[in-house]
Amino acid sequence: MSNQLSDRINSVTPSATLEMAAKARKLRASGKDIIGLSLGEPDFDIPDYIKDAAIQAVNDGYNSYTPVDGYVELKDAIITKFKRDNNLTYDRTQIVVSTGAKQSLYNVAQVVLNKGDEVILPCPYWVSYSDIVKLADGVPVEVPTSLENDFKMTAEQLEAAITPKTKMLWYSSPCNPSGSIYSKDELRALANVLQKHPQIVVVSDEIYEHINYGVTPHASMAEFEDMYDRTVTVNGVAKAFAMTGWRIGYIGAPAYIARACNKLQGQVTSGANCIAQRAVITALIESPERIHYMVDEFKERRKIILGLLNDIEGFKCNEPEGAFYVYPDVTAYFGKTFNGTKINNASDFAMYLLEAANVATVTGDAFGNGNCIRISYAASEKEIREAISRIRTALS
Ligand SMILES: *Cc1c(COP(=O)(O)O)cnc(C)c1O
Repeated sequence: MSNQLSDRINSVTPSATLEMAAKARKLRASGKDIIGLSLGEPDFDIPDYIKDAAIQAVNDGYNSYTPVDGYVELKDAIITKFKRDNNLTYDRTQIVVSTGAKQSLYNVAQVVLNKGDEVILPCPYWVSYSDIVKLADGVPVEVPTSLENDFKMTAEQLEAAITPKTKMLWYSSPCNPSGSIYSKDELRALANVLQKHPQIVVVSDEIYEHINYGVTPHASMAEFEDMYDRTVTVNGVAKAFAMTGWRIGYIGAPAYIARACNKLQGQVTSGANCIAQRAVITALIESPERIHYMVDEFKERRKIILGLLNDIEGFKCNEPEGAFYVYPDVTAYFGKTFNGTKINNASDFAMYLLEAANVATVTGDAFGNGNCIRISYAASEKEIREAISRIRTALS
């Protein structure tokens, strides 16, 4: 029988970060000592007070389907969190809990985009944005940024990218992969442009909000009164709470968008996992101070990895202000040959590091920027030191 797959799925690119992780796993299984710096996953155990809440939920008999958009107690915890951390006021009709922030993003694309609608993505962007947009028949419009601008899109660039077909703007701040953070003033400048284009809905992905190294305070687009009614604030617990496998994300949104996401989710996945939802109530109600020890540790590792990378000629790094990635420009290596392997682009470079240094990273192409690679420092100091030392050797 011939291939009966849809054009839709055939047009999707497999997640490059997951693919690299799979390749690394395969090499490891064949006996190679691979250091994995490709995945965006904290290496911490989840805090005990959150574990206890999950155990309590099991013992309390939480087994049944939950409301599609999440337990009321969890929605209230999210409302409290938005008020406390972001000065954003939402009511229960504006909150939808999903199976990870990834599903939250997918839902929003599905309910807002029509065929051919354009979505502006400042590059580099999170790996899944463009495919989530394409799955909703939208058209990703990539706006290149550069190291010189700390990988941030300017108001002029935004203005120039807008067409009558522009329906949305998506960005993450702190940014995965660059670690850049838009200041409140920078967001205001973008909002001033959007003022003239009232049809554009903004997706502000704030999943790294708490992983902020204290230079630029976190700011939300929805804080601006004139943007509140057309901004979807996306967040989740995977990164800051080290709960990647628990799969809980959420949005605060205009009520009509939240209602539509609820309707969609009701036909696709129903409510998110009941035990995970109960645990997240505790995670969000408790003070974010309780997870700050992880941020302190990431900050230390950031210093170490930046120091080591800046010491290798050819790596050009911005100073990430949040998240747990460095995103060095490696164009200095393009056109060069190492041990018989010619490096033509970032993909060749990442593959060479995997094969010659046994270190897994991710090509910048996956994030819409082919000059860089992404290296995660959500790994132990020992692994980081060993990995960068091997990279240095492979490039000498
Ligand atoms: C990890 C990540 C997500 C997805 O989060 P989940 O809750 O695990 O689905 C979304 N956006 C960005 C920028 C991320 O890095």
